[in-house]
Amino acid sequence: MAHVSYFYRHSLLYNPFLNALLNTPLEYIFGIGERRAALLAEEFGLRTVEDLLAHYPFRYIDRSVVQSIAMLREGPDPVQIRGKLGVVKQEGAGRTKRLRAVVSDGTGSAELVWFKGASYIAPQLISGAEYLFFGKVGSFKGRPSIAHPEFERIAPGAEIDGYMQPVYSATEKLSKLGLSSKGLEKVIAKLLAQARGQIRETLPRSLTETLKLPAKADAVYAIHQPGKEEDVKHARRRLKFEELFYVQLELLMKKELRTAQSRGFVFENVAEAFRSFYEHHLPFELTGAQKRVMKEIRRDLRSGYQMNRLLQGDVGSGKTVVAALSALIAIDNGFQVSIMAPTEILANQHFETFSAFFRGMPLKIDLLTGSVKAKRRREIDEAARSGALNVLIGTHALLEDRVVFQNLGLAIIDEQHRFGVAQRAKLWKKNTRPPHILVMTATPIPRTLAMTLYGDLDVSVIDELPPGRKPVQTSHVYDGSRIRIFGFMEDQIRRGRQVYVVYPLIEESATLDLKDLTDGYESITRRFPKPEYQVSILHGKMKPEDKDWEMNRFAKGKTQIMVATTVIEVGVNVPNASVMVIESAQRFGLSQLHQLRGRVGRGAERSYCILVSDKKLSNDARKRMKTMTETNDGFRIAEVDLELRGPGDLMGTRQSGILDLKIANLATDAKVLQYARNAAADILEEDPRLENPENLPVARRAAELFRNKPNWSRIS
Ligand code: ADP
Ligand code: MG
Repeated sequence: MAHVSYFYRHSLLYNPFLNALLNTPLEYIFGIGERRAALLAEEFGLRTVEDLLAHYPFRYIDRSVVQSIAMLREGPDPVQIRGKLGVVKQEGAGRTKRLRAVVSDGTGSAELVWFKGASYIAPQLISGAEYLFFGKVGSFKGRPSIAHPEFERIAPGAEIDGYMQPVYSATEKLSKLGLSSKGLEKVIAKLLAQARGQIRETLPRSLTETLKLPAKADAVYAIHQPGKEEDVKHARRRLKFEELFYVQLELLMKKELRTAQSRGFVFENVAEAFRSFYEHHLPFELTGAQKRVMKEIRRDLRSGYQMNRLLQGDVGSGKTVVAALSALIAIDNGFQVSIMAPTEILANQHFETFSAFFRGMPLKIDLLTGSVKAKRRREIDEAARSGALNVLIGTHALLEDRVVFQNLGLAIIDEQHRFGVAQRAKLWKKNTRPPHILVMTATPIPRTLAMTLYGDLDVSVIDELPPGRKPVQTSHVYDGSRIRIFGFMEDQIRRGRQVYVVYPLIEESATLDLKDLTDGYESITRRFPKPEYQVSILHGKMKPEDKDWEMNRFAKGKTQIMVATTVIEVGVNVPNASVMVIESAQRFGLSQLHQLRGRVGRGAERSYCILVSDKKLSNDARKRMKTMTETNDGFRIAEVDLELRGPGDLMGTRQSGILDLKIANLATDAKVLQYARNAAADILEEDPRLENPENLPVARRAAELFRNKPNWSRIS
């Protein structure tokens, strides 16, 4: 097969001897050695010279700028001063020994102090001579003071040849071994001088020319040792582009390879089950977006290729019915369907929704979760194995080896990001031929992130809410307003509505949080006493039966208030609930707040979300509150979230390494990313096997980068 030979051929292109210095492990580098190398690997994943040269500075200090001493203020950023040394004296002895000096520049004087190395430094400091000093400003007896400054003696009145000093991230452990930012600067400068000739171009000339990108070697050099700020800008643009280009190239090749290799089941028929549901059971007209997405899915299911589709849609956009319709197509073609949800509550709810959808149809659906008893469990296993079962809904219990299907044709995964990539792969392996996969996510993902994380999947978006929805009205109030909030809750309950009150429950502070929850519950039951009011409580520490019981009471309208932790975050659907009060809202992330808010506004009534927070808010928390009150648009919220948290945290776990970008930033580099994806797609379209001599740099670099990823055609 063409693609297989591609990889074989290019594995020959990777020749470790060609890049002798770049590929040298750091432990063999003079000035680094075994201990530091181990630490560099541990702290930053840096193993070879090439890796270290890709440890780019995150900012620069302009060393041509000299501050006048009179203007010095305490602060975290190092500054440079110039002046004449006054007294230099050593004080104390033994452990308290220190070296002090005073420097003056005509505008004022500053104190310099060394707590270590006094006897080594003292001879280099000559009273009356002129120096540059560089370091962070503190204060000592009301006078500015710099501890352990860097210094350099200069001729009186001499011009200084300042430079853009790179600042590298370094950890405390590394600094202790001499690899502070300054130490790294020295090592990297030396390696750069030796390695420059070996740094090969990795992009085809056509690209660097049209996009006016500097050559790779020049960019690497400039980013570490820029002559001027302009150089850094060009270098960064080039390196970002390259980084994103290879991420996209890999994803696109992966997608291509999978399409070529993995034949999928062909679901040609839309028959009895689908028709009967569509005509008689579907309780509403599909929205335009739902119809479009169904078309995309049907096209996949007929294509002969395995479907790998991500379905994105904001909370409440109606993904469930799309899942149900897709399931019916599989069933009509004689296949079974699995639906996996991240929590028991959600699995239960799906089970109920599907049972209601399919009522009166000759279909067998069951529910498999961790709390299913052994005897029932055996029945379920048997029904799945024999093919008697059409749809099996469950939690990750579905992934256990004992669950075997007779013919699984479609695997639906709800709330994607709670499941890791490896878990998805397990589902895949339940058949000799992989089932079609539909991944649904309720947390809208910014486009850049989707392109990077799921660049190898096809993406469908439901970007339209069912008709008649009113946006949830959101307000932010402080703790002191509780009496008013209670009054508002009472008013809504009088109108027949229901209310959620949610508390954070975070593992690290679980005991305290649980206390907040129960205290809250008590004050609410005092304000809303029985028998007039019924209040439910729900948290993760409760037994599954108890949770279900409470959830059901609330869903059936038997209780008016649900006091809960975030166990109700995902998916729970009680259309009559119209108020969501979020306590300690500052402690929740944006996507969580948005998810929680999505629990209301599901019926025809106007709904409200009230964020209750401390008065003291961090800047980020303030931005989160502001974003929530300003917009209901999940995609907009996701973008702000990405800005605030970065991609790794946003996705819950740092999965797949794809997000470990060294220089590009998915929150701010959307444009570069789009260019990079287009460029990669164009190249692959014209020259899918990268045989064109013009693309040799790409073929070579791809072979180097992807060589340690043997299984990369089968990751998802
Ligand atoms: P989510 O995308 O968050 O999973 P759901 O599938 O739970 O959303 O749908 C939310 C609510 O909207 C449900 O009550 C569902 O029955 C309803 N719904 C879905 N599609 C439509 C539609 N086309 N018209 C009216 N209501 C719809
Ligand atoms: Mg849902």
